Amino acid sequence: MVDHHTHLAPDDDPLDEAVLSVETITAHVAAAMDRGLDAVCVTEHVYRFRVAKPAWAHPYWQGQTEWDIDAYWEALAEAKEIGFPLRIGIECDWLPEHQDVLVDALAGRPWDVILGSIHWVDEGAVDYDLYSAFDVIDPDALWRGYVDRYTRAALSGQFDVMTHADLPKSFGPLPSAAVLDESYDAIADALAEAGCCAEISTAGLRKAAREIYPGPDLLSRLCARGVPVVLSSDAHEPENVGFAFDQALRAAAEAGYSEVMEFSGRDRRAVPLG
Ligand SMILES: [Zn+2]
Ligand SMILES: [Zn+2]
Repeated sequence: MVDHHTHLAPDDDPLDEAVLSVETITAHVAAAMDRGLDAVCVTEHVYRFRVAKPAWAHPYWQGQTEWDIDAYWEALAEAKEIGFPLRIGIECDWLPEHQDVLVDALAGRPWDVILGSIHWVDEGAVDYDLYSAFDVIDPDALWRGYVDRYTRAALSGQFDVMTHADLPKSFGPLPSAAVLDESYDAIADALAEAGCCAEISTAGLRKAAREIYPGPDLLSRLCARGVPVVLSSDAHEPENVGFAFDQALRAAAEAGYSEVMEFSGRDRRAVPLG
């Protein structure tokens, strides 16, 4: 088992470049081993890196963007070279107006996996209270905007895995049943058409929704359309690496999956469940 989505930087001090140290990486890998994982993939947010700064003028983005992407790469590549069971990835936002900046920022490196994420719609953040879109638009409009971006990101072909598919459920009221239904279908259709993986993320269990991303209804639709899945914790601290993977595996089986995917060098291979 591989955890495909983890962060070295804690949420409360995300710009401390000291996390790119042997000590932090060792603690991260040790946590994965303790949980019985075979490997852990580090996927820091693209907006941590100065190279992404021109992508977006929003004060949140500008304020989060101070790391050197070369230092990130070198710290992980060094650890991998000496035998740490690590994969090197990145969690990349989809900003349709500025995506060329992000594509350039990622170019030229042999990533193990590139995750695609929607954290914002036009009106504000999906998962961040300070600039929350829920303060500005109603849940139906928010979900429609979110799904529009999510599906376009999946179909862009830039990402190996699309993350936390029903993320807005943890940060505001759900939309109407009709909008939720059309949202699930649109997400499942786009991922299937794109040949892109989804993640089963246990982060949702630690958020207000107290439910895995994606929930059982959406996960069943993904399975029915043949969308492959990977396992992830979205840990921002070592103790959550591999968090509740027993529940993730159960959710996968209940949705109808008999295998999960593992990425290395942006190639995926199937690993049977059970
Ligand atoms: Zn995310
Ligand atoms: Zn993440």
